[in-house]
Amino acid sequence: AAKEQGKSRYVRYTAELDARTVEHARLGAELQHALVSGELFLLYQPVVVLPEGELSSVEALVRWRHPERGLVSPAEFIPVAERNGMIVQIGAWVLREACRQMAEWRRRYGAAGPVRMGVNVSPRQLREPSFVQAVTDVLRETGLRPEDLLLEITETAVFDGGPALETVRALHALGVKLALDDFGTGHSSLGLLRTCPVDVLKVDKLFVDGVTGTVENSVIATSLVQIAHALRLRAVAEGVETEAQARRLYQLGYRLAQGFHFAPPLPEEEVGRLLAVRAAGLGCDRLDPPALA
Ligand code: C2E
Ligand code: MG
Ligand code: MG
Ligand code: MG
Repeated sequence: AAKEQGKSRYVRYTAELDARTVEHARLGAELQHALVSGELFLLYQPVVVLPEGELSSVEALVRWRHPERGLVSPAEFIPVAERNGMIVQIGAWVLREACRQMAEWRRRYGAAGPVRMGVNVSPRQLREPSFVQAVTDVLRETGLRPEDLLLEITETAVFDGGPALETVRALHALGVKLALDDFGTGHSSLGLLRTCPVDVLKVDKLFVDGVTGTVENSVIATSLVQIAHALRLRAVAEGVETEAQARRLYQLGYRLAQGFHFAPPLPEEEVGRLLAVRAAGLGCDRLDPPALA
């Protein structure tokens, strides 16, 4: 009976696996169409300064509005695009679109605009020999300075050295800012912080979730901000969902945060409204007499 059961479980498992493979193949084929027919778009999530929550920069996050499936999450289609190679084209589109948007906000809102634009870069993109040139081209086309761009890479892409690390060094030499994303969840090595020239450590939500808990649950977030600052890197706490977490993170030394507590990923127009208010506020500070005490 046990054998029978084991066998049926195996059959069910492979059936599920096949279904998933087929589903992935279909998604992959549809992605090609999605890119050319304009089904992909970007949302922008604010990164804020603690404790007030003032806007610092934004991170571009890709979305897919599928004609039948509705909104598809990048957690679902980015891995598929990584496997079939489409990520190279998708990534190039994301980079150009995010930089175009950043340049537009700069023109319209000047100093009230975001400090910089964060763009996620997948390991596969970093292995493309032409990636540095692609970044250079986009900066030139959009008129952005290298330091207006923050490329978010993962530890796993660079932990074993090789061409990806060389690419990162070339980007750093260009003056582009670099972040290690989801820090602590991949092939973490603190040695990487010395060999890989990064400016920002994005501490994963996994560790941020624990900051209001026990010492054991908060120890990693506590240590990472100290390590980051000792190495003169900025630390960003990812996935901050509550006021209590925000307050605790500030106590621990975090000065930058991102999460639903402050703002979810927003459409371009909503960020524009936010920036317009900010621009007006900056103007008022200079022009208006001090408010009545
Ligand atoms: P990520 O780069 O670490 O982005 C942060 C993710 O956390 C985003 O998910 C964001 O919506 C989500 N998030 C932000 N604040 C909170 C919070 O308070 N609570 C919770 N539960 N989640 C929060 P999203 O947009 O679904 O993206 C997931 C991942 O997909 C990203 O993680 C990134 O690795 C990848 N991704 C997104 N856009 C791109 C892209 O254009 N290119 C590449 N290569 N990867 C991308
Ligand atoms: Mg990111
Ligand atoms: Mg992240
Ligand atoms: Mg993350």
